[in-house]
Amino acid sequence: MRRIWAIFLGALIMSNAASAQTSGDPPAGKPAWALTIHGGAGVIERGKLTPEKDAEIRAALSRALDAGSAVLAGGGSAVDAIGATITILEDDANFNAGRGAVFTWDGANEMDAAIMKGETLEAGAVTGVTRTKNPVLLARKVMEDSGFVFLSREGADQFSREQGLEQVDPSYFATPLRREQLEELKERVASGKQVSSFDIDMKYGTVGAVALDQSGHVAAATSTGGVTGKRWGRIGDSPVIGAGTYADDRSCAISATGAGEYFIRLGVAHEICTRLRFRAIEQAAEAQAEVPVDRDGAPERVITPDAVSLDPREVQDIVTGVIDELGELGGTGGVIYATPWGQQGWSFNTPGMYRGKASSGGEKLVAIYGDEE
Ligand code: ASP
Repeated sequence: MRRIWAIFLGALIMSNAASAQTSGDPPAGKPAWALTIHGGAGVIERGKLTPEKDAEIRAALSRALDAGSAVLAGGGSAVDAIGATITILEDDANFNAGRGAVFTWDGANEMDAAIMKGETLEAGAVTGVTRTKNPVLLARKVMEDSGFVFLSREGADQFSREQGLEQVDPSYFATPLRREQLEELKERVASGKQVSSFDIDMKYGTVGAVALDQSGHVAAATSTGGVTGKRWGRIGDSPVIGAGTYADDRSCAISATGAGEYFIRLGVAHEICTRLRFRAIEQAAEAQAEVPVDRDGAPERVITPDAVSLDPREVQDIVTGVIDELGELGGTGGVIYATPWGQQGWSFNTPGMYRGKASSGGEKLVAIYGDEE
């Protein structure tokens, strides 16, 4: 009997883990909502930005945080909040997403974006779009209205027009700074200073947002122009579900930024979510083992993974563990995260990452350099 109950309980724990969760009363200290954002990682060191640029970037991150926070504080969904956050950063030429996107080798701006809902595991992504003003809104349309997950290039632009999303002339995305960066890269390649056309300096500015809403659901989105000088239809990690973007109510929401090829190879976003999910299952089983059982071996109560709350340090260690593995492979960059248990934060192995977080607890923080909190 005892054995049969143990098998039943194991199956129950697994089946609970496999369904979208609605947690009951939030554990004490859990924020009602949380929002974490990034604006790209890279060699962002003190002294590299003028004080004016530093202030401009912080103000933009702050505005984006406020827009998403307002949605979440008003009871809106995580997916609405990250959309509101990212469109602000896409419209700001300081970031490599939407206006201000980097140039391809052939001198075009080709953008990628993805969005994912942790509640249902629905996702939408686009790559190589050239006319949609806000690629993140197109990714959302793909998720909700296309019947597909991932659309590319002309087809994605066509779907965008058919859905009535705002269209702009491709020149809208181009900025003189990004053009200079392409010229610099081409010169380095021509003079033999750089062998590959890959932008080793990572002209940062990809944007991302992850959120936990008051219903307990998480969502993630990322938007980027990719890397300067990309060619042959190169696609980075940002729009690849599981690499640069992932959300699952059983574990976390992740948005990445950095050298996309490495994030794709490690499946970074999904890898982090999987490790957290299995840790929650393990912790529920450990807690279950402590629950008294009756004469038939039936426990007084059943502890499911959605009822546990991982320790914030443990969450941070798991996220950092994957970023360490990325570094061992030679990859640079970082991620932001938000969990259904209320933890939020980031991990990166570059000198800096444009980033920010806010929560219902009243906390609001914007940072750029690695030595800030
Ligand atoms: N991850 C993006 C890409 O590889 C670039 C970035 O985050 O800066 O396309």
